Amino acid sequence: MLENKRTASARVGMFPLGDMVSPILPPINATTLIAPSLERLAPIADNSLLRTADHVMEGLYYGGVDTPTTLSLAKEIARLEGGNCAVLSPSGQAAINLVLSALVQSGDHILVSDCITYTTKWLLDRHFAPLGVTVDYFTLHDSHDLERLLRCNTRLVFWESPGSFLFEVVDPRPIVKLCRSRNIITMIDNTWSASHFFNPFQHGIDVSVLSLTKTHAAIAGVSLGAAVTVSEDLYNSFKTRSALLGDYVSSSACSDAAKSMSTLSLRLDAQQHSASAILSRLAQSSVVHEVFHPASSKSPYHMLFQTLYSGFNSLISVEFSLPPEILRDRINKLSTINVGYGWGGAVSLVNLFAPAQVRTIAADKLKGPCARFYIGLEDPSDILADFDLLLRED
Ligand SMILES: *Cc1c(COP(=O)(O)O)cnc(C)c1O
Repeated sequence: MLENKRTASARVGMFPLGDMVSPILPPINATTLIAPSLERLAPIADNSLLRTADHVMEGLYYGGVDTPTTLSLAKEIARLEGGNCAVLSPSGQAAINLVLSALVQSGDHILVSDCITYTTKWLLDRHFAPLGVTVDYFTLHDSHDLERLLRCNTRLVFWESPGSFLFEVVDPRPIVKLCRSRNIITMIDNTWSASHFFNPFQHGIDVSVLSLTKTHAAIAGVSLGAAVTVSEDLYNSFKTRSALLGDYVSSSACSDAAKSMSTLSLRLDAQQHSASAILSRLAQSSVVHEVFHPASSKSPYHMLFQTLYSGFNSLISVEFSLPPEILRDRINKLSTINVGYGWGGAVSLVNLFAPAQVRTIAADKLKGPCARFYIGLEDPSDILADFDLLLRED
């Protein structure tokens, strides 16, 4: 992990107060912002929406569009993600909807990785497809030969890496190369990397969408998302669309998210350490059929992962060779790892999943029961004690 990420994470709340600075981002909840005169009141026009002032207190317009709090967090997210500008949204799901609504119309075709998270598939299959957008899924196998899946109306290629649940690593290089030559927009769901482990813009990807609800803001328990880009044109189209759709975010939520983000780098360090210990433990177990984590040396994606990523998060999926009832029974008896959804916070979680539910095309050969673990901030020895129970060989 780069040193400057730690510093950026610690300083994420820095906010000007006169000639002093608050290290905690204050929640400025104001929809009305009063101007000193009619002449100073920003006109109702795109230019006001697309304010370019560097200072978060300048050029304010309407509090739904932005407050100094939301502007400040958007800038920090853009910087941490390695982009130039970010539009915040009420959730990760809303960020994906925002970008697609801004870029894709009826009659367009989009290509999406089969390893994208199931909630994104819901949005595509149940919302965009009925509106007349053709959605095709591609597998990792296809990703090196995407050309034959492109159509003359392909507008965008969208993938998640590592993929949800099975953590397949998508190589962005052949995709970006092909899409650039065809003027097709590329977009990644980069939530897994928590704005630390992979810089999409170094690889020429156009848009990075994030669920900030996960690792960034989960300590605060708030829901937020972001669309990040280096392109001013794309930013303008997202920002305008956000205003059209009323996709506003709460300043209180942004302030809470910034408090959570101030410990983001440290949390990721600690979780990486715990996840490594658990991966070693899993590698020795005879009741484990397969471990899904790109840092596992047995992962088919391990080499590619090491080339592209600078670290890893603590989501680990496991295919067990235990009978499903025994696995369920053991999970219900764990003491530190909790049963639940919504990863990214302080506590460790586990839930069961069926591969056929998370992959449209490539559910393939997994037979044993599968569980996804999220390793939180508890002492690694307590988490390992739970794994001792899960992995018992009697
Ligand atoms: C959770 C998640 C989303 C959706 O984010 P919300 O903030 O819950 O709407 C999108 N992508 C990934 C990879 C996620 O884990």
